[in-house]
Amino acid sequence: MALIPVVCPYCQTDKDVVKNGKTAQGKQRFLCRSEHCQGRSFLLNPSYPGRTLAVKEQIVKMSLNGSGIRDIARVLQVSTRTVIGELKKTKSAQSGQ
Ligand SMILES: [Zn+2]
Repeated sequence: MALIPVVCPYCQTDKDVVKNGKTAQGKQRFLCRSEHCQGRSFLLNPSYPGRTLAVKEQIVKMSLNGSGIRDIARVLQVSTRTVIGELKKTKSAQSGQ
């Protein structure tokens, strides 16, 4: 059985990551024991769709097509905060800041 290195999303280490049971949805939960994280837990595949690249791309595309923040949030089933945050990031990236 091959071991897949699990990288902590907070401190980017794969040295101090251990398995830590499963979530209610049956997803593997991990725990980071590095100095930085002090036992922070995370999931390898977050179930929240607002975090996936495909959704981020959809948010940008829909906004370019003139969809409002609430429309985008409803269609993609993410929160309006996710949409606003993503559009802010995209705008600052485009203006080169
Ligand atoms: Zn960590």
